[in-house]
Amino acid sequence: MKTLWRGTRLKAVEDFPILVKFVFPEDKLSIQVHPDDAYAAAHDAAAGGRGKTEMWHVVLAKPGAQVLVGLKSNVNKDEFLEAVKTHTLEKLFEAYAANPGDTFFVPAGTPHTIGPGMVICEVQEYSDLTYRIYDYGRVDGQGHPRALHLEKALGVIKFGVPYGGQTPALALPANGFKKDLLAACRYFVTERWELIGPTEFFTNSEHFNILIFLSGRGKIVAEGKAVSYHRGEVWFVPACIAPPQILPADATTFLRAYVVANMDDFKNEWLDTGLDEKSITRQIFR
Ligand SMILES: [Zn+2]
Repeated sequence: MKTLWRGTRLKAVEDFPILVKFVFPEDKLSIQVHPDDAYAAAHDAAAGGRGKTEMWHVVLAKPGAQVLVGLKSNVNKDEFLEAVKTHTLEKLFEAYAANPGDTFFVPAGTPHTIGPGMVICEVQEYSDLTYRIYDYGRVDGQGHPRALHLEKALGVIKFGVPYGGQTPALALPANGFKKDLLAACRYFVTERWELIGPTEFFTNSEHFNILIFLSGRGKIVAEGKAVSYHRGEVWFVPACIAPPQILPADATTFLRAYVVANMDDFKNEWLDTGLDEKSITRQIFR
């Protein structure tokens, strides 16, 4: 049964592979980093032992909203530690303005934070392992700071290796609607679909699809049944069902997240449709 719903690609996987969240901070999140699978398995098996590579898509943002993703490439460990002590860590980061429609890829090992004034949709590995580096000196109602995990953070940060950050949307071939590839990695692929009229979705016995509705409303018709969708809802489309129809009542934008079998096959499939290698390489992370 599990295989029918999730798809044959996930036959051997015990836990569900991805997690989708909406994040809308009122204040800056702590500066943090997540481990990769290998570090998580070796050091945090009791907490799930899985790393966390994530992707953010900005849904709403006030002017001036910004995110910090990754350290500048010349920052070394000593400078980093000094900046933690002197409360000047933010200056060492690559800072990006966050505008609606922007996408950021945040691989495990990339320190980051999200500022206030935005709503982002996060697609990530199914893990909550977070190593907090700096919490802006904040304390809770009882005057206690939150725990920091500097030592583990230093074990996972990749100094001098700039990767991740903002990724451009890549237009994919689509018939009668707009489809963009936002980011692809071995844990998940995320696309953005923009529809104004009835659109046939598709299913594949190899993998499920998750649809995250960012705007619009309408109906999903599958196997003779119709359900209504609204913005802010997330729908799981099982691998085993017949392709559903999506019937927007209003212009609709959703993200589609799914799991790939193999990044080389994924890339080759798109190259076969005529996309050039240079553009697709900017969305694919290994
Ligand atoms: Zn994070």
